[in-house]
Formats: sequence, C-alpha cells, structure tokens
Amino acid sequence: MKIPSVTCGTHGEQPQTFVCAHIIESLKTDKPKGFWWSRGEDGVWDAVCDACNNLSQEAFEALGPNNIGIVCLGCFEDAAALNEIELE
Ligand SMILES: [Zn+2]
Ligand SMILES: [Zn+2]
Repeated sequence: MKIPSVTCGTHGEQPQTFVCAHIIESLKTDKPKGFWWSRGEDGVWDAVCDACNNLSQEAFEALGPNNIGIVCLGCFEDAAALNEIELE
C-alpha cells in the first residue's frame, strides 16, 4: 500500500494526511486547537480539532470538503506537537 505523497515547502516530499481547516490554521498561528487523530486502514493519518471532534458525523459532513485539507506528514507531526499530542 502506497500513500500518495505531497510536496511540502517545509518538509519536502511526504505522505499526505488529512486535517480540518482549523488545524491548518493552527499551523499558521501556532495556537493549539486540539488534535484528534486516527489512522485509516490504508495507513493514511487524519486529524480534527476539538470543535470538529465535538460535532456529530452529520454536522461534520455538512461542513463540506472545504473543511478538510491535505498537509504533509511533517506538518501533521508539527500540529500534533503543537497540541502536545504524541502519535503512535
Ligand atoms: Zn476543526
Ligand atoms: Zn510539511
């Protein structure tokens, strides 16, 4: 199984991960907003912030695709570290 890669300006070519728009924002502002991660069967990491994690699946999906963005695994780890979350 190969995870599609993205090229990041900071980290170079890395596996892609999916995070909510608020986590992407927190990477820019350095302000933690929560980090609830999971890893799919395909090995792809994803994470959402506290606010998104508190939404029902329905409410979350209603936010649409604009609420989810792709970041590289390096940025994903940076966001986790910002929230003092350790990835397994
Ligand atoms: Zn969010
Ligand atoms: Zn990156």
